[in-house]
Amino acid sequence: AAGSAHCSGSLDSGVSDGRNEAHLRVVLLGDPGVGKSSLVAIFRREQDREAAEQQLAEVFDCTLMVDGKETTLLVMDTDERNMKKAIESSDSPMRLGNAYIIVYSVTDRASFESASELRIQLRRTRQAENIPIILVGNKTDLVRSREVSVEEGRACAVVFDCKFIETSAVLQHNVQELFEGMVRQIRLRREGADT
Ligand code: GDP
Ligand code: MG
Repeated sequence: AAGSAHCSGSLDSGVSDGRNEAHLRVVLLGDPGVGKSSLVAIFRREQDREAAEQQLAEVFDCTLMVDGKETTLLVMDTDERNMKKAIESSDSPMRLGNAYIIVYSVTDRASFESASELRIQLRRTRQAENIPIILVGNKTDLVRSREVSVEEGRACAVVFDCKFIETSAVLQHNVQELFEGMVRQIRLRREGADT
């Protein structure tokens, strides 16, 4: 299904205009340099570039039309700085998210291993909860420096019981699909919880 998205950056993102479903916090995790901010930047392009460039807005909302229905996600991009800060506090991204995107780079095996560790850490922190998680192998455009095969990524997702997708933020390949997949997963869990 064709999707569309419009987003607005803000740090104070608790507000809903009432037309949409409630905000859902989606947290991006992964090693530095794997492409988290690049994946998210695609959804930010049309709005305040300046704020994004100055990295003032680590959290922003993003409204996607998926299967004819709007959903507003509150996307939280993490980096070394805010992860370190958060680990010491109770509002750790590990606790805040309603859903997670764990990113590694297919050109960086260490980041793939970190992704597994993050999954384990999430499971430990959020034991009882059935949280939607998507494992993302980014930078597929860098064909010649690939270190992690698509089969390995897929197998890892099976072990860790989450969805899997490979993306290229640079080519904007599968990025829309990633966020639409997130919305669909969230809806499935919610419908499951309602009935
Ligand atoms: P973050 O630390 O996870 O937020 O990573 P960034 O989004 O800052 O990206 C780190 C570097 O990788 C930047 O130089 C990006 O331009 C580059 N990058 C991100 N995604 C891709 C991709 O899909 N392909 C390629 N070739 N480079 C990418
Ligand atoms: Mg970043």
